[in-house]
Amino acid sequence: MTTPCPTCAWPTPTLVSTHGTTHYLRCVCGQWLIREHRTLVAAPGPSDFPRADRHTAA
Ligand SMILES: [Zn+2]
Repeated sequence: MTTPCPTCAWPTPTLVSTHGTTHYLRCVCGQWLIREHRTLVAAPGPSDFPRADRHTAA
């Protein structure tokens, strides 16, 4: 019942959160996936979500 990552083809992105029938997953490559029922509905880019490990003070 997993959705392969469209970016790197990782077969088992990690389920981060579930809201009703909507599932939010994150891949090992940093790609976020949004799945509703069994259909991938969105794969927002990593830039959509600041990465803590890339945060640097100016
Ligand atoms: Zn990936």
